[in-house]
Amino acid sequence: SKQISIDEVKASIRDVVDFPKEGIVFKDITTAIKDPAVLVYCVDELYEYYKDKGITKVIGIESRGFILGSVLAYRLNAGFVPVRKPGKLPAETIQESYDLEYGTDTIEIHKDALNKEDVVLIHDDLLATGGTVCAATSLVDKFGVKKSYVNFMVELDFLKGRERIEDKYDVYSLLRF
Ligand code: AMP
Repeated sequence: SKQISIDEVKASIRDVVDFPKEGIVFKDITTAIKDPAVLVYCVDELYEYYKDKGITKVIGIESRGFILGSVLAYRLNAGFVPVRKPGKLPAETIQESYDLEYGTDTIEIHKDALNKEDVVLIHDDLLATGGTVCAATSLVDKFGVKKSYVNFMVELDFLKGRERIEDKYDVYSLLRF
């Protein structure tokens, strides 16, 4: 298959200005993952990083975290667990709320999704302020899992979300802007 570089992968991400609201530059990964060579590159890089970590479950954060999260779970021979917005998961859940610029948001996970033996990889498409992933790590910590890793396809350095998690977790992002 076609050989590509990390710079080509970076360039394949589309900036959408003022989406979903004014002042936000939205990093659109759909233009990246629609290219088979880019998709293979991303999954292979992440597989190389995580293959020897003993990951038993990959957690994908709704909804763009479901995409690479599922592929990674399959590739790592791990299970996949969704973390979702309230009211989407059908069985008993535990919830965590976190602050947004205006107001709060909540995410949840099934109560029986993880156990103490799990080594968890938490995946989302993008790290911005870190609010979402902090809520996700709080949920995962409640299960007393062996270890948690945190991964993003894209990290926005200037928002310093990494500072909120890197003391406690191994954080790896494929692309940084
Ligand atoms: P945060 O909680 O601030 O780290 O925001 C992360 C969540 O919001 C992720 O699930 C992202 O998909 C989404 N997000 C935040 N900012 C952006 C952005 N500039 N481009 C694309 N997605 C974003």
